[in-house]
Amino acid sequence: MAGEKKTKQKVCPVASKCGGCQWINKSYEEQLKAKSMSFRKLMEPYCRPEAIIGMENPKYYRNKVHAVFGEDQRHNAISGIYEEKSHRIVPVDSCLIENQKADKIIVSIRGLLKSFKIRPYNEDTGFGLLRHVLIRTGYATGEIMVVLVLSSPIMPSKNNFVKALLKLHPEITTIVLNVNDKDTSMILGEREKAIYGKGYIEDRLGGMTFRISPGSFYQVNPVQTEKLYAKAMEYAGLTGKETVLDAYCGTGTIGMIASRDAGRVLGVELNKDAVRDAVSNARRNRISNIRFYLNDAGKFLLEMAEEKMPLDVLLMDPPRSGSSEEFLTAAAKIAPGRIVYISCNPVTLVRDLKFLTKKGYRTQKCVAVDMFPYTDAVEAVCLLSK
Ligand code: SAH
Repeated sequence: MAGEKKTKQKVCPVASKCGGCQWINKSYEEQLKAKSMSFRKLMEPYCRPEAIIGMENPKYYRNKVHAVFGEDQRHNAISGIYEEKSHRIVPVDSCLIENQKADKIIVSIRGLLKSFKIRPYNEDTGFGLLRHVLIRTGYATGEIMVVLVLSSPIMPSKNNFVKALLKLHPEITTIVLNVNDKDTSMILGEREKAIYGKGYIEDRLGGMTFRISPGSFYQVNPVQTEKLYAKAMEYAGLTGKETVLDAYCGTGTIGMIASRDAGRVLGVELNKDAVRDAVSNARRNRISNIRFYLNDAGKFLLEMAEEKMPLDVLLMDPPRSGSSEEFLTAAAKIAPGRIVYISCNPVTLVRDLKFLTKKGYRTQKCVAVDMFPYTDAVEAVCLLSK
């Protein structure tokens, strides 16, 4: 145990306190092997997986970086992460899996605080202004958004602060003030205002442009997302005529990429903000054969089944908890020729495959995609057909 702790510390000085990278002490080759083996074992009753899709450069992949701000005992500003399962701040300047520019910007912001007399927020006393910094980067566009999360809407000499930060980092394309005055573990509050640039960034994925606002959902590993979606499209085998449903569609990324090769696409999603972003993304990319619905995916599919609506290909990407029995029953009733199941949790994936197998589907192909190197998370895509 002590030996393991030492190896971890060599790669990352805060690994044992952070707990984010469960596999920091494994080489990348070993990580891929372990993920591949555990996936193969889980999938054994259903399908032999293709070779796992890993990263060429498995470091610094996270396009979204968060730092919590606070003070040490001498009232010096510190920034970093919460210690695992606590609210103590562990100072971090650079992280193995985070975008490096983002990490540097966070260090610069910390360095500017004193001369601008900005105090980090103190959770216990409620004094201080700066609670968090969130940085989101566009991999293909190079755009960078800095979100300063404050405890109050008033930031003294904010224009000069913006000037000073841009002087150090001219690559920043937008800066947003977000106000979070609640006693909460959520990072972002509800009010926000752009104090430099347009208030959001854009990124490109699968040849489409997507808008990323401070709070919108967007996959955190852009390099692997490209490969994941390409695999999903390969499995979908679209020819231009099909009716496709993108279930659990988030901001519509998969459905929009599918829309180029499909007759028409429907997207269904439970989160109101995600649906709003999906609609604006479709408009931004001038896609006219897609429609998004704000609904529970299971209820929506049940309605489709009752109205006997035809469906050729079902794309589904449920959350960690997997799909619901209602959804899967309705899917079997509608009986699309192909189901492409994207999963971020192989355990619930296998549970759902078991159900669909009983309804006459067979898993034809499957593959694991390593979206989160250095962690134990496995993402997978499966193709099912009758
Ligand atoms: N396919 C998207 C998002 C996948 S994350 C992408 O790749 O970017 C899973 C999504 O399912 C989340 O956006 C979540 O809000 C949504 N979701 C969770 N439960 C749902 C339900 N019961 N019905 C519809 N959508 C749901």
